[in-house]
Amino acid sequence: MILSFALLIFGSRLTGTVFSNIQLPVLACPYNLDQLTSAGCYYFSHLDVLFTEGWQEILAFFGTFIVCAVLLGRVLCGFICPLGFVQDIAHEARQALHIEGVSLNEKMYTVLRLVKWIMLVIFLGIGFVGGNFCDFCPAAAISPALAGFKLSLGLGGFFMIIVIVSGFFKRRSFCNICPLGYILGLTHKASLFKLKKDAVACTECGACYEACPMGIKSIFTVREGKKGELSKIDVTTPDCIMCGECVRRCPENNALAITFCGKKVYNADRMKFMKQYAPKPDKYAPFLNHEKSDKHE
Ligand code: SF4
Ligand code: SF4
Ligand code: SF4
Repeated sequence: MILSFALLIFGSRLTGTVFSNIQLPVLACPYNLDQLTSAGCYYFSHLDVLFTEGWQEILAFFGTFIVCAVLLGRVLCGFICPLGFVQDIAHEARQALHIEGVSLNEKMYTVLRLVKWIMLVIFLGIGFVGGNFCDFCPAAAISPALAGFKLSLGLGGFFMIIVIVSGFFKRRSFCNICPLGYILGLTHKASLFKLKKDAVACTECGACYEACPMGIKSIFTVREGKKGELSKIDVTTPDCIMCGECVRRCPENNALAITFCGKKVYNADRMKFMKQYAPKPDKYAPFLNHEKSDKHE
């Protein structure tokens, strides 16, 4: 994530304007005042502009988006998006400081999903009523601003602070309402990355649901695939950001796995799970052992 953060933020600066117009959708925000912006998620929030372009531009935009969606899907969210990375840093900082986070219940996740739909309508429709989503998008305060492009931050900077503070207390809070991430998730059926479940191995402990930053309950409740299968059930949903947290926290071997082209790339492992919760070596143990052996003598 550190590498992709650096590449996405400073890559476009290094490659210069030659590649500025072919930045891949969702990978880096191309919005700035130094150069023409005609790629990336900019077009999703300016569909009015896209449809006035030539068919080559339209094909290039949707073509690169589909390639990204099929090859990576929401792995982009889990491991590549700079805004996701910033939220992860905020989450890690809270954990390092041993500050209690906020956990949401189902009702709260339902409210967040409603907000996400509102954001989606604004994101896709604002261009048609003369607005500009990029003027208040928090991502603009990271990608182009950090890369040193000219930018009027205003509202975007303000929302960035909200994203960091909310991400500090609730992991990936902004991802729960991010319209771009959800659009990417809609293509999950075509993506080569999938989240798979083996219902035979699953003991219905609910640890996966507890761990999921997107509040996806189906990973825990699904017991059978669409064709009645019990193993290799596809439990990927449009909301899943492919962070792998559910897999990491699952205590049953292979009950959950992230696959690429059907091959497991990351699977639940009981030994790894046990190691996460193994008691830390007691710093006084050597002295106690020494005491015991003294008594024995
Ligand atoms: S949901 Fe949005 S902010 Fe979160 S990682 Fe995906 S694209 Fe980035
Ligand atoms: S954490 Fe694993 S074993 Fe527990 S409910 Fe989820 S999939 Fe099943
Ligand atoms: S279902 Fe698993 S991989 Fe998907 S967002 Fe939730 S924890 Fe992450």
